[in-house]
Amino acid sequence: MTDPDCIFCKIVAGELAAEKVDEDEHTISFMDINPWTRGHALVIPKNHHKNLYEVDPEDLAHTAKAAQRLALRARDALGADGVNLLNSCEPAAWQTVFHLHVHVIPRYDDDPLRLPGQPQEPAEGELAAVAAELRG
Ligand code: AMP
Ligand code: ZN
Repeated sequence: MTDPDCIFCKIVAGELAAEKVDEDEHTISFMDINPWTRGHALVIPKNHHKNLYEVDPEDLAHTAKAAQRLALRARDALGADGVNLLNSCEPAAWQTVFHLHVHVIPRYDDDPLRLPGQPQEPAEGELAAVAAELRG
């Protein structure tokens, strides 16, 4: 399962260079070329899936396990004080590369990252209304 136009498939195939940090039968992990913090890496399934909507549960599970492995390594090898996992699904959610990936972003007590959004006070009844919609 590869897409000839996909840059992450090219990394899996070894046709595009990447700074790999982890690999197993189903996943590879490599440094993000534009890191948000020191050690920011991406975990991808070797199979091409566009994003969270389309990945099969098995590859999603393999990717999650590899992300946990990398998070522990960021803590133990880089001295990270915490880790954010980020997955963006569709352009509305900032997805720019359309091969499923999980960002493993090591966090440091003094790093400059800040939440991109502000928690909102919901209108009266809104939580119950949206919960009902989600339950279907
Ligand atoms: P997203 O916006 O969640 O789709 O994330 C895509 C990420 O891929 C960005 O953080 C980019 O910096 C990163 N990226 C794009 N091309 C490459 C590449 N060739 N090697 C490593 N990281 C890449
Ligand atoms: Zn791909």
